[in-house]
Amino acid sequence: MALSEFALIDRFFSALTPVRADVVLGVGDDCALLQPSPGQQLAVSMDTLVAGRHFAPGADPVGLGHKCLAVNLSDLAAMGAAPAWVTLALTIPTPDEDWLAGFAEGFGALARTHGVQLVGGDTTKGPLSITVQVHGQLEAGTAMRRDAAQAGDLVYVSGTLGDAGLALLAERGLYVNPDTLDFLRGRLHRPTPRLASGSALRGIAHAAIDLSDGLGSDLQHICARSGVGATLYADRLPMSPGVAEYVADTGDWALPLAAGDDYELCVTVPPHRQGEVEALATRLPGGLTWIGTTDACPGMRVVLPDGRQIDNIPSGYDHFARD
Ligand code: ADP
Ligand code: MG
Repeated sequence: MALSEFALIDRFFSALTPVRADVVLGVGDDCALLQPSPGQQLAVSMDTLVAGRHFAPGADPVGLGHKCLAVNLSDLAAMGAAPAWVTLALTIPTPDEDWLAGFAEGFGALARTHGVQLVGGDTTKGPLSITVQVHGQLEAGTAMRRDAAQAGDLVYVSGTLGDAGLALLAERGLYVNPDTLDFLRGRLHRPTPRLASGSALRGIAHAAIDLSDGLGSDLQHICARSGVGATLYADRLPMSPGVAEYVADTGDWALPLAAGDDYELCVTVPPHRQGEVEALATRLPGGLTWIGTTDACPGMRVVLPDGRQIDNIPSGYDHFARD
């Protein structure tokens, strides 16, 4: 007999994640009751993954459980917030127990890593779609906002760029050095939210964003909201061996500049805090790499290794632009 909605919630989601002392009431009532810490602001973000749009309908459920939470935690990282609570709206065509067990495994493991409690959600029948909302906390007034960059800031990114994009190209049939494939696939299907970097940079960086659509388009959001421009240096872009090899072979800088789904952080830092950022870079997972500088000249420019300059960075993914 198929699982009922309530049996399903009970079995897979009621006790999936760590129990936090600031959850007065979790899954099972009309609302969750949460007790924010004194002096903290809530940081709230939501992302939806739709089958056939963000992932293939047959995608590995463990990876999906991880990714739908990871992309939300990445938004908290970009504000410098500490994750606390999460809600999950799951629409599934059938209550497939193997799929649910896999999904819960991926979701639960990442939630435990970051001490996030699943406190509620909604479960409905329909075409597969996953919506997650995270709630984090940070000291009031200290969030890293997109509108806070100033001309002359140093632009840093965490991790490496273009990995998820190259994994996607490989899945679509492009030949990629087999030695790099496991790493690249991991970057696409199991992104690492840079929560430690975000919280360490809060109070140091002016502005931050996480790279979901691609460096060019995401940094452009900071530039537009802050009223600045930016000049980037292609030879400074951090690349893993697979992406470096691809760029060396093809000369195609669009991959590190514009491919999405890496979930790294891009931050702008006032020059007098450079020493602190360089020190953080040596101890934070993924590190931090200087890639350019913001300036008063609107728009974004990329200086290529041969000295040529591109003024139109290929834009990132826009759901509606390409329909
Ligand atoms: P209501 O009808 O009052 O909205 P539901 O029947 O939708 O309540 O859900 C019952 C309880 O289970 C609620 O506390 C809800 O937050 C929780 N819940 C439903 N689906 C999920 C899910 N996928 N993950 C976690 N909690 C869930
Ligand atoms: Mg409901």
